[in-house]
Amino acid sequence: METCQSGLSCFLAKEVGFTPPEVRILSSPPFRASTRHLPRAGFFVTMTSMKEILALLADWANGIFAVVLASFITSTEVVWWHFLIGILIAMCPDLDAIPELIKRKRLAASAEHLSDHREGLHYPVIFLVVGGILVYLYPFYGWMFLIAVMLHFINDLYGTGWGIPLLWPLTDRRYKLLGRRVNRMKSILVEDGDWEKLPDSERRLRLIVSWEKKELTSYIQKWGMENWINRYYLNINWISGIEYGLFMFAIVLIFIY
Ligand SMILES: [Zn+2]
Repeated sequence: METCQSGLSCFLAKEVGFTPPEVRILSSPPFRASTRHLPRAGFFVTMTSMKEILALLADWANGIFAVVLASFITSTEVVWWHFLIGILIAMCPDLDAIPELIKRKRLAASAEHLSDHREGLHYPVIFLVVGGILVYLYPFYGWMFLIAVMLHFINDLYGTGWGIPLLWPLTDRRYKLLGRRVNRMKSILVEDGDWEKLPDSERRLRLIVSWEKKELTSYIQKWGMENWINRYYLNINWISGIEYGLFMFAIVLIFIY
């Protein structure tokens, strides 16, 4: 008999009461698979596989904003497929996540996986140079590229991730805005019983947070979360609120532009 503490099977079993016969949850009494739960379980399978998309909505919004702004700057008429290109460009810095996605089938910096993917392509200076050249050669697409990737980096500077190496190549320090060095929201720290154990210096919400490369690894080991999508995006908090709000605003913008 297999046991599980995380993953889809456990999520289904815990949330829906459905479990494949070969899986049993640790610390829970055994229960039987029941066809009674199947329609509800099917809904949660869909929701579980869709939830990764929730973390992408802000980048989709960034792509749409980039198209509208580039069109405004260069007086170019927008057609519908420009938005598809803008959305793809806005996600392109995250191509550095593909090796981890292939290997682990998920994305998370945690004790199970100590490195954060934002060390591959999250170097704003490179994109500034490439974007500057593209603006010179193809103004509309150049501005679209430049704005989309810069908005991506702004999005990575707050919220759920471990910041970006903003000032590379001057330093490989990671920077983040409006966060704690433990990189968790107060509500999550309180919920997990960690808030009371933290010293004041770690509780403090900082305008600018930064980690040296070595200390980033130790913080990820202690405070990284495998289930960050569930904790942040399946709840409404200031991070998911901003990102969902940006996405809804971008959709409205498509229709009125
Ligand atoms: Zn990113």
